[in-house]
Amino acid sequence: MKIFKLNEELKSYLNSQEKDKIISFVPTMGALHDGHLSLILNAKQNSDLVICSIFINPTQFNNLKDLEKYPKTPNSDIKALDNINCDVVYMPELADLYQKNEKLKKYQFNGLDKFMEGRRRPGHFNGVATVIEKLFRIIHPNKAYFGQKDLQQLQIIKYLTKQLNFETEIIGVSTKREESGLAMSSRNKRLSIKDSEKATLIYKTLIFIKQNAYKHSIKELKEICIQKFNDEPELNLEYLEIVSLENLHPIDLYNHNGHNAACIAASISSVRLIDNIIF
Ligand code: AMP
Repeated sequence: MKIFKLNEELKSYLNSQEKDKIISFVPTMGALHDGHLSLILNAKQNSDLVICSIFINPTQFNNLKDLEKYPKTPNSDIKALDNINCDVVYMPELADLYQKNEKLKKYQFNGLDKFMEGRRRPGHFNGVATVIEKLFRIIHPNKAYFGQKDLQQLQIIKYLTKQLNFETEIIGVSTKREESGLAMSSRNKRLSIKDSEKATLIYKTLIFIKQNAYKHSIKELKEICIQKFNDEPELNLEYLEIVSLENLHPIDLYNHNGHNAACIAASISSVRLIDNIIF
């Protein structure tokens, strides 16, 4: 496995590759778990060369404390990637991607960022778009893999890729879960056993929504689900939205099967968790 810290070195390595190779890219912020690795394994099935980047992108953190607390496990990340035969890891320092005092470009996402994470975390998706544009301009991947766990991010990246005329196919990979149903996340490491048990209510509620959609109105279904969170006061519900998959706006009436999503953000002992289900 090749490891690059400088974009110039990565670029010249990529330039030396045969032109018809299918290059796949998986951007991450490290502290890798099986969810991240499932993106790499998916990418490996349909490509000649898989690149994983590990970079904690400061511009997507709207909360400095969150950035400081973000877990860093570079050695075990490298081992895990090597174990599954990832081809290339790109681990840049800040200065390799950002100029000093760089003025950030302002993106627009056609309203995809209006609700949920976009509303709660101002500037977050602008930071994500900034780093993804930079990484795509270095790598020019044929395909890039993103987790459905971050559904709003996935839809925004699909839109951004088209807007910027990248010829990269964006592929969403289903959410990898603990046995309990809890979506895997680097933040789960900060949960006590008791808290992670309580946090399973998030996925249980998403399943409940999928199973009971169309039987109740959206308004009723939301009320039933919000009550479930009220009964578990240590798990703080930030939002529970039922949205159209296409534009991620909350809906009052269901779309056709497969075109709706239920999205939840909740925190427990100041660990913020998000999850969603498409139905
Ligand atoms: P992050 O390091 O948190 O920026 O995540 C890197 C990529 O891994 C993103 O595309 C995430 O959506 C994806 N990801 C994170 N957790 C999971 C999971 N449990 N299952 C599948 N993909 C995931």
